[in-house]
Amino acid sequence: HAKASGRGRAEHFTERLATEIAERAQLESDLRGAVERDQFTLVYQPQISATDGRIVAAEALLRWQHPDRGLCLPGTFIGRAEETGLIVEIGEWVVESVAKTIARWGALGVEQRMAVNISPRQLDHAAFFRRLRDAMQMAGAPARLLELEITETLAMHCSSEVVDAIAALRNDGASIAIDDFGTGYSNLARLRDLPVDRVKLDRSLIEHVATQAEARTIAQAVIGLIHGLGCEAVAEGIETPAQLDVLRVIGCDVLQGYVIAQPMVEAEFIAWARSAPGEEIRAAG
Ligand code: C2E
Ligand code: MG
Ligand code: MG
Ligand code: MG
Repeated sequence: HAKASGRGRAEHFTERLATEIAERAQLESDLRGAVERDQFTLVYQPQISATDGRIVAAEALLRWQHPDRGLCLPGTFIGRAEETGLIVEIGEWVVESVAKTIARWGALGVEQRMAVNISPRQLDHAAFFRRLRDAMQMAGAPARLLELEITETLAMHCSSEVVDAIAALRNDGASIAIDDFGTGYSNLARLRDLPVDRVKLDRSLIEHVATQAEARTIAQAVIGLIHGLGCEAVAEGIETPAQLDVLRVIGCDVLQGYVIAQPMVEAEFIAWARSAPGEEIRAAG
C-alpha cells in the first residue's frame, strides 16, 4: 500500500513537472515573437512632488497583450525573459518606445521626465548604453528627461564598466534612481560610490507608516540617510491618504502610488497631466 501511494505521488509529481515544463516552454516561445508581433505596450504612472503636488515624472511600466491570456503584468513574464536572455530584446523595445514617448509628449507640451526600469541582464549587455543613446538621439529626446531605475541589488553588484557608463549617461543629463530600496541587502557605503539622484523606498517600507510607530521611525531614518547622501527620496506603492500625509511630514520628496493615480495608457496620462492635479492634491493635503 505504502509503495503504491508512493508511486502514485511520484507519478503525480512527474505529471506536474511535465506540465510546468510545457508551460514554461510555451511562455518562452510566446515571448520570443512578442516584440515582432507588437504585443508589448507601456503604461505610465505619475510621480508627484510632495511639496506642491505637481507631476515631476512618469514611470513607464511594461504590459504584454497576450493573444490568449489577455493583458499580462510584468510579474508573469519578466522572470522568464531574464532567465532566457529575451529581456535584452524586450528591453531594447522598451528603451526605444520610451525615447519616442518622451519626444512625442514634448511635442504635445507635456515635457516630462520618464523613468524606465532596467533589468540586470540588460546592463550586462555591452551594447546597452550605446543603443540607449542612439534611441534617444533618433527620437530627438533630451537625456535630461530620462531616468533609469535600477534595483538596489543590481546597484550593489554592478561592475566598474557599468558604473562608468552610468556616470557618462548622467553627465549627458540623465538621472539614476535606485528601485525597490529596502528589499535587498545593501552595503550602504556603496551608494556613496554610485552616481545616484533618487532612491525609491519599496512599498514594504511604507506599507505600515501610518499605522505602526516603528515603521514610521524606520522610514524617516531611511529618508534622512538618502538626504544625507545628497539624493531625493521617492515613496512608491502609496495606497492611502494617511500614508501620503505621513510621508509628507517625514520629508519624502516624491510620491507615487494608486492613491495618486494608477498606471495609465498614454491618452489617459496626458489628460491627467493636463488637468493640473497639483491644485487638488495641494488642497486635499
Ligand atoms: P517597480 O518598478 O517597483 O514598479 C512598481 C510596481 O508597483 C508596478 O507594478 C506598479 O504598477 C505597482 N504599483 C504602483 N502603485 C502601486 C500601489 O499603490 N500599490 C501597489 N500594490 N502597487 C503599486 P507592475 O507594473 O506590475 O511592475 C512590476 C515590476 O516589473 C516593476 O516593479 C519592475 O521591476 C518590473 N517592470 C515593469 N516594467 C518593466 C520594464 O519595462 N522593464 C523591466 N526590466 N522591468 C519592468
Ligand atoms: Mg520601478
Ligand atoms: Mg519598485
Ligand atoms: Mg522593481
